[in-house]
Amino acid sequence: MSVTGPRLQPTLFERSRPGRGGGKIPHPPKDALDRIPPAHRRSEPPALPELNEPEVVRHYVNLSHLNFAVDTGFYPLGSCTMKFNPKLNEWAARLRGFAELHPMVPDQVAQGTLQLLHDLESALAEISGMRAVTLQPAAGAQGELTGILMIRAYHRSRGDFERMDVLVPDSSHGTNPATASMAGFRTITIPSAADGGVDIAAFTSALGPTTAAVMITNPSTLGLFETRIGELLDAVREAGALAYMDGANLNAILGRFKPGEAGFDVMHFNVHKTFSTPHGGGGPGAGPVGVGERLVPFLPAPRVLRDEDGSYRLERTGERPTSIGRLRSFVGNTGVLVRAYAYILAHGATGLREVTDDAVLAANYLKHRLRDAFDIPYDRACKHEFVASASTIKKDTGVRTLDIAKRLIDFGYHPPTIYFPLIVDEGMLIEPTETESLEMLDAFADTLIAIADEARTDPEMVRSAPHTSPVGRLDEAMAARQPNLRWRPMRGAEMPCPD
Ligand SMILES: *Cc1c(COP(=O)(O)O)cnc(C)c1O
Repeated sequence: MSVTGPRLQPTLFERSRPGRGGGKIPHPPKDALDRIPPAHRRSEPPALPELNEPEVVRHYVNLSHLNFAVDTGFYPLGSCTMKFNPKLNEWAARLRGFAELHPMVPDQVAQGTLQLLHDLESALAEISGMRAVTLQPAAGAQGELTGILMIRAYHRSRGDFERMDVLVPDSSHGTNPATASMAGFRTITIPSAADGGVDIAAFTSALGPTTAAVMITNPSTLGLFETRIGELLDAVREAGALAYMDGANLNAILGRFKPGEAGFDVMHFNVHKTFSTPHGGGGPGAGPVGVGERLVPFLPAPRVLRDEDGSYRLERTGERPTSIGRLRSFVGNTGVLVRAYAYILAHGATGLREVTDDAVLAANYLKHRLRDAFDIPYDRACKHEFVASASTIKKDTGVRTLDIAKRLIDFGYHPPTIYFPLIVDEGMLIEPTETESLEMLDAFADTLIAIADEARTDPEMVRSAPHTSPVGRLDEAMAARQPNLRWRPMRGAEMPCPD
């Protein structure tokens, strides 16, 4: 494992020199210390690194240059929709009226923000064909939990306590089964059909009086649209269960397919994916949830309401006793929601449909270009993403998908999602999005094809990649199981800290 290269710099703690502190409090009152009660004063100085201002600035700016971002290069990370984020959104989210609004101001002072949220709910309802929308959940995963809790409340409200099962296809995102068990349900995993779609027969035979819900990702995490979705939704309805749609792949169906009209009862939006908020570094995101008629009474509180006089307000505590309650503080990650609103308005209805059409075109083009160099396990018309596999390359050369992904880094690309969905051997889930040019798609395809060739002529070069990054191969299992994210110790920092 090689972990340091010349571009990796020492930490601020290692650079620290006693007495070099650049932090000055301007014009401190003479009796500043006396104003702090003795019990609240430190007995020892805090264990902060001591550096001057240029050292600190250069440290962080140089670190930022090690970052890979959508703004620096192509980022085909499947299932994540890493599209370019228009700077217009950033301008809108930073407008003082939105950015500096205190979350506890009275409704009268927050009319602009409340109106934006109300309008965004309507736009998302229109896009999805749903009856109503909550903007509260902080991400897709929390949106799923919100949706499944509403489904639970629905069944309970009808005195139906027998429904304990949630059916999930084996190609689903890990958050689906996690959501079901967090909400107290049993997850039943249904294997995919040979064509990569939902196995309708297996689903239908698993449906019964104990089924609370099915969770379907459409298009699936293989980038395939469920062509027999109507049949499946009929069967779900007949069984008295509800249908949840994981909407992470909404980018593929904007203006083309409305889940609510198709018969889904509830879905989440990953607005940071579809509606362009910078993401990938752990947030913040937003995971609004749209519901059909039957789930409206259970929406989280408070909802954003519009009164008859045209003014906006938040629902009052206890105003709607059927609500499942509050999922997080205030009304959601408003900054992310402002970006989504700006994106939707900038595109309009026809523009959003073009987003989808271009994303689908880009994915099919790239898939076509890679067909001779890689296996394409589910080779029918894909939506916004597709799976390629290095299964044959591995058999012939020993080079794995992980190696190919690492080698891409040497050529300045972020690797695609790899080994997901789990059902594909040596899979790479590639999602180019609508924002890349033909030249970029070709350059990426040429690079992948060249790496596939290299795997045959110089496999060691691929297996030992990356060669140009500041950090080489990490022990991924150790990084996941025992992440060591904290530097220690230094003078004054002898406090034990958990590993
Ligand atoms: C991203 C994603 C999720 C989870 O969404 P977060 O916003 O990351 O919590 C769920 N399902 C699928 C298919 C996804 O791609």
